[in-house]
Amino acid sequence: MKKIFRALGPIALLTFAGCAVTSHEPRNLDSLKGEIRDYVKSGRYERDIAAVTVTADAWLVERSAQKKPGERLAVVFDLDETLLSNWEEIESLGLGYSPSVWEAWVADGKATAIEPVRGVYRTARKLGLEIYFITGRREHQRAGTEKNLRAIDCIVSSALIMKPDDLKGTTGEFKTVARAKLTAQGVVIVANLGDQESDLIGGCAERTFKLPDPFYWSQ
Ligand SMILES: [Mg+2]
Repeated sequence: MKKIFRALGPIALLTFAGCAVTSHEPRNLDSLKGEIRDYVKSGRYERDIAAVTVTADAWLVERSAQKKPGERLAVVFDLDETLLSNWEEIESLGLGYSPSVWEAWVADGKATAIEPVRGVYRTARKLGLEIYFITGRREHQRAGTEKNLRAIDCIVSSALIMKPDDLKGTTGEFKTVARAKLTAQGVVIVANLGDQESDLIGGCAERTFKLPDPFYWSQ
């Protein structure tokens, strides 16, 4: 590189220096949003989800076949961007976030089902597995969340475990404790599905299934 600078002189040095600064420029937000919209609208997002759920489905069938008498096998589902798609709300905010809009959206209970994940839910039901929804949504959002689950034909009598309104700490910690409590009650969580690492860390599941989420990140 030094040889090139010497051959081209001081002007080239300035040009290269300019390039170096530009290379540290972050990704352009509008172009990144365009990529995300295209990822969803092209169907690639759902295909990536389906690639994970095919494996999860096969695992539930395989694991159920090994069930011992009296064993309580269970599946844990996260809700947002796992069983429920909030794409309509996310897109309405220009792929942004507004706490007040989010509260109203949750209360309305209009999130759509993520079909491949609902397929895993149906497989779990058919196999007679216990089903738990463990969500970072707070207790005060229970009515809207139950309404939404009913709307997508998911039975609410399955346990819906929500974060207490006054609970401090991360969602990852809350979810880990929730799974540990189930395990202590004799429940064997054979699969845990979520879109965030915080859904899946902390153990208490035989297998974890990570779904894509290009929209947000949560602890
Ligand atoms: Mg989620």
